[in-house]
Amino acid sequence: MTMARTDLAAAAAQWLAQFEKALAAADASRLRPLFLADSHWRDVLALTWRIRTVSGRDAVVRALGDGVQRGAPSGFAVDPERTPPRRVTRAGVETVEAIFRFAAADGRGSGVVRLIAEDGGTMKAWTLLTALEELRGHEERIGRRRVSGEAYSRDFRGPNWLDRRKSAAAYGDRDPAVLVVGGGHAGLSAAARLGQLGLDTLIVDRWPRIGDNWRQRYHALTLHNQVQVNHLPYMPFPPTWPTYIPKDKLAGWFEQYVESLELNYWPATEFMGGEYDERAGRWRATLSGADGARREIEPRHVVLATGVSGIPHIPDIPSLGEFRGAVVHSSGYDDGAAWAGKRALVIGTGNSGHDIAQDLQSSGAHVTLVQRSPTLIVNVEPSAQLPYALYDEGPPLDDCDLITAATPLVVTRRSHQLFTERARQLDRPLLDRLERVGFKLDYGEDGTGWQFKYLTRGGGYYFNVGCSDLVADGKIRLVQFAEIERFVGQGALLRSGETLAADLIVLATGWKGQEALVRQLFGDSVARRLGPVWGFGPDQELRNMFRRTPQPGLWFIAGSLAQCRIYSKYLALQIKAIELGLLPRGGEAAESAKATVSAIAD
Ligand SMILES: Cc1cc2nc3c(=O)[nH]c(=O)nc-3n(C[C@H](O)[C@H](O)[C@H](O)COP(=O)(O)OP(=O)(O)OC[C@H]3O[C@@H](n4cnc5c(N)ncnc54)[C@H](O)[C@@H]3O)c2cc1C
Repeated sequence: MTMARTDLAAAAAQWLAQFEKALAAADASRLRPLFLADSHWRDVLALTWRIRTVSGRDAVVRALGDGVQRGAPSGFAVDPERTPPRRVTRAGVETVEAIFRFAAADGRGSGVVRLIAEDGGTMKAWTLLTALEELRGHEERIGRRRVSGEAYSRDFRGPNWLDRRKSAAAYGDRDPAVLVVGGGHAGLSAAARLGQLGLDTLIVDRWPRIGDNWRQRYHALTLHNQVQVNHLPYMPFPPTWPTYIPKDKLAGWFEQYVESLELNYWPATEFMGGEYDERAGRWRATLSGADGARREIEPRHVVLATGVSGIPHIPDIPSLGEFRGAVVHSSGYDDGAAWAGKRALVIGTGNSGHDIAQDLQSSGAHVTLVQRSPTLIVNVEPSAQLPYALYDEGPPLDDCDLITAATPLVVTRRSHQLFTERARQLDRPLLDRLERVGFKLDYGEDGTGWQFKYLTRGGGYYFNVGCSDLVADGKIRLVQFAEIERFVGQGALLRSGETLAADLIVLATGWKGQEALVRQLFGDSVARRLGPVWGFGPDQELRNMFRRTPQPGLWFIAGSLAQCRIYSKYLALQIKAIELGLLPRGGEAAESAKATVSAIAD
């Protein structure tokens, strides 16, 4: 069935009108016919102040029935300022995708509904997203709402803009409301959003210079995703930039970003930990400067933006102590130049292991890559780019981000199974060559590919930028970890009796989960209270990420540039809502006992 664009808009408008009436009446018998049996509702703060996904028509209808108790949302309409309703294929399913707007109890909402004609007849919702865009009366100060600058331009004797900026960033006479720990893209995105909502925010990072988190990585690094996916909030990369951004260019951009968006950023400052004062609703946080000077500050919120990978994971290999050469974890490796002509064993076949092996090999070292477990290999182009086709389709960035947020976990899993299967076909020649040299391949749980490996365990895959070809061609030798009998003074003794001589062993063995970092910074009881961070929970969302956690005042942001761009907005809205008293300070777990949306847990 083909429908003209106007028909698609009319179908979406009709669905939205019926939905609004059924929702206002909290009438399950009117909501039910609007959804397919296999339907999903994801709410991102707009109706429940939660980030939650509910799956299956019964659960969706129950949850929506309860959700409206918070205040009837109204004014649902196709948004004329955004990409018009169109026919698309998502996760292999043909659907009509419509972006809409509405008024939520506390502000302006946006959403995406994907409609499918049931048995070729009535259009029903397959997926529904309702998301909070902004808080009423506290909109971002952008465009027509931008600050006038009058405060410093009309008073000729008073402090000018620069004086004010310096004083704001010095925190001489006050503490920030929000402390963001980590000044990579996660921290920058969060701080930029918080600043726009008028929240006094300080970023600290232990590196001496903004952007060092990228600058200090290996020589040849460029980003793996294409430039159009990777923009930071508010300040897109110039259209002249290369498709794959080099690390030093990104590092320089971070400095300009901090300057342009007027972010308060203390480099060379380590967050040592903090204690929460429940009664005062504040942290007592300790910062340490490069000179060792300590400063105590009392922010109401701490946002950990310290990366998915916090503390290096060093496997327990007792015989490694016998080895007389150098041993470094991948986090301590910087450049291959010093190892020209030397022999190196790189243990681990994720991105770090491959990148370091390639860096060493191209610096003239003799490299052996040691594989510990099957690894997913995907060519950086075109295979690794398949999930980002949306960002090439034409809709503006904000629409792409909303459409991305509108895809519930189970549908995303299906999409990634399809992308993985396609990548497997595209990469077949390389994969065959790798198998021939004994490389053990893997395609992720249920074939869901690298994205789900990233979202569940933060590794276990390699975007091939050339190292797999070196392995397949025998220019980098491959050995299975199981072939190693033990480590000895000169290197590794293989079960075959051969000694694999080495001057350097690199442990590209990954990172401990963020729970370990939480325990180190906040102690056991906070770590216990929080439970796991990252990976999916039973509510189909990333655990403790971007939303209130069981520990009041403690927040997490991590993930790709795109993820942080999308979810920094929602994180900032929640902190703002708490500051305004719209949301309780207490974390999700404490509050859920009295949650109105009880059916969501079903
Ligand atoms: C080769 C390569 C290519 C990649 N390409 C892409 C891509 O194209 N797109 C994409 O989205 N992602 C990409 N990534 C993955 C990912 O986005 C990056 O690894 C990124 O660095 C994560 O950013 P982050 O801000 O979460 O954490 P990080 O960059 O790890 O930053 C965390 C910061 O926290 C600081 N910190 C930690 N603890 C403390 C403390 N106690 N006190 C003070 N400071 C602290 C650290 O110094 C660090 O600067 C790539 C990664 C690699 C290695």
